[in-house]
Amino acid sequence: MKVHNFNAGPVVLPRQAVEAAIEAIRDFDGTGIGILEISHRTPGWERVMAETEQLWRDLLGIPDDYAVLFLGGGASTQFFEVPANIMKKKAAYLQTGVWAKKAAKEAKFYGEVEVVASSEDKNYSYIPKNYTIPADADYFHITTNNTIYGTEIHEDITSPVTLVADMSSDIMSRPVDVKKYGIIYGGAQKNVGPAGVTFVIVRKDLLGSSERKLQTMVDYRTHIGAEPRDNSMFNTPPVFPIYVMYETLKWVKEQGGLKAMQKLNQEKAALLYNEIDRNKLFKGTAVKEDRSLMNICFVMAEGYEELEGEFMKFAKSQGMVGIKGHRSVGGFRASTYNACPRESVEALVACMQEFEKKHAK
Ligand SMILES: *Cc1c(COP(=O)(O)O)cnc(C)c1O
Repeated sequence: MKVHNFNAGPVVLPRQAVEAAIEAIRDFDGTGIGILEISHRTPGWERVMAETEQLWRDLLGIPDDYAVLFLGGGASTQFFEVPANIMKKKAAYLQTGVWAKKAAKEAKFYGEVEVVASSEDKNYSYIPKNYTIPADADYFHITTNNTIYGTEIHEDITSPVTLVADMSSDIMSRPVDVKKYGIIYGGAQKNVGPAGVTFVIVRKDLLGSSERKLQTMVDYRTHIGAEPRDNSMFNTPPVFPIYVMYETLKWVKEQGGLKAMQKLNQEKAALLYNEIDRNKLFKGTAVKEDRSLMNICFVMAEGYEELEGEFMKFAKSQGMVGIKGHRSVGGFRASTYNACPRESVEALVACMQEFEKKHAK
C-alpha cells in the first residue's frame, strides 16, 4: 500500500533528495568516502556549502547585505540568540501560538517584552489584526506560520521597527520580500530538509547592535566567513543535514522555484479545504482568511464527534500517516509542505468522501 506522509515535522522530503543522500553516504562527490565520514574541510564540501548558500540567495532573492547562516540548535535556540544579538532594551512580539509564546519567553532574559496582540483567547485560531507596533521596540517578532494551529500570515507585513520572523514552517513555500525583514530564521525540518540544521538570514548592519557581550557561538558575527564557503564553518557544521537541504533546494529550483511552489501549495490546500468545507462530517478550525497552506487543521463537525477515532482508523488503513492533530487542537492536521505530492492530498480527500458516504446522517 502506498503511504501518504502528512507529518508536521520532520516531514516528507523530495524522493530525489533522499536518493542523492543515500548515494552520498556511499560515496561523496567521487571521493570514495561517504559524506558521514568526510572532513568538513574537504574541497568538495566547501563547494556544497557555497552552493547551498547560493541556492538560498537565488530562490529567496536574498540581497548581498544579508548573511545566510546554517547553525545547530534548532529554531528554539534562535529564540534566545535573536534577542541576545539585537535587543537593547525592548522587543515586541505577536503571540500567535505556543512557538511565538516560547520565543517571547526567551527574549525576557534580555529586556522588556511587549506582547502587542495575542489570539490565545480563541486557541490561536486566527491571526490578530489592528495591533500597534511600539516605535521604541528594537524589533518586532512574528511567527509567519503557526504549525500547531494551522494559521499563517500570508503577506510580508510592514513594520516601523526591524521585523524578525520565525519562518520554520513556511520558508520556501512562497516568494518572500526579504528586504522587509531584519532576521528570518527557522529549523530546516519542516520545509527545507531534515532535522539538525537551522537557517538564519540576517541583515549585516544589525550585527552587534545589542552592544551586549556575547558568548562566541551566540554572536552571529562568529559564523560569517570571508567567503560563502567559509560561512557557518567556525565549528563543525551539521554536514549531513546541510547536504540533504542542498539536494532539497536543488529540487525546489528544478520545480520552478518559489512561485511554482506557491502555486502547487495553493492548489493542494484548496483541494483539502474545499473538501473540509463541503463534507458534512468535518469542519476547519482556523479562521478562513488566516488558513495555513502548510498545516491544514480540521475536526469532526457537530453531531459526528464520536466518529473521530473511527476516521483515524479508516484513514490509517488507507495509508494516511501523521494526520493526528496536535493535542492542543485535537482532531486532524494534514501538513502539506512543498514535498507533499498532490496525489497524497487527493488520496486524503478520497478517504474523507468515502467516509462521508458511509456515515453521513
Ligand atoms: C517546529 C517549530 C519550531 C521549533 O523548531 P526546533 O527546530 O524544533 O527548535 C519553532 N517555530 C515553529 C513555527 C515551528 O514550527
